[in-house]
Amino acid sequence: MKLNPRSQQSTPRRKLVSRVFSIAVLFLSLAIGAAHARTVRPSTTTIRYMNYLPPAEYDKPFTGTVIIRRLETEEEIERHCKGRSKFACAGHTAERKTCYLTIVNDNVLRSHHIPWAFVLRHEIGHCNGWTEKHENKRKVQMIDVGMPTLTKDLWVLPAYPPVVCVTPEWKPEPCSDRKNTVTAEPMDKASKAYSLI
Ligand SMILES: [Zn+2]
Repeated sequence: MKLNPRSQQSTPRRKLVSRVFSIAVLFLSLAIGAAHARTVRPSTTTIRYMNYLPPAEYDKPFTGTVIIRRLETEEEIERHCKGRSKFACAGHTAERKTCYLTIVNDNVLRSHHIPWAFVLRHEIGHCNGWTEKHENKRKVQMIDVGMPTLTKDLWVLPAYPPVVCVTPEWKPEPCSDRKNTVTAEPMDKASKAYSLI
């Protein structure tokens, strides 16, 4: 009679193999359990960040000069915009040839989920005469808003600090290069000349 090779094992050895196998299974199931515990289920909730665009009659390119100034903090914007906004405001000269946009820096916009394109579309609407009552506003999901067509006569002053010097062509240059300095304070002049929205 041929012996079944398995039956040749001594009883204690079979028990040991079986025990090692059980421990291995236990560790494996613990590891799988831990992996499951770490698994984060994808959220099914979509957050929609909504805000307002101007109606079509104001949602168009501004034909004059646009000067954009960036400020660092919500507090600075709130102060400059006289409490109307923490993120941006617009104002224009009486004859509406120049529009000044004051917009908080990119980090603050990003942290509030406000896309740059949305800010421009909303504020340029004010440049075009949309009043602070936001009449006929259109509620939109901000992320869906495309970039507006911008006037070629557009100047952007970066956020400060550092102090920025610009050439007459509005190109930033190091202030240390200046021999004779002339201080331009467009916002101070503008604050007196235009109405903030
Ligand atoms: Zn507004």
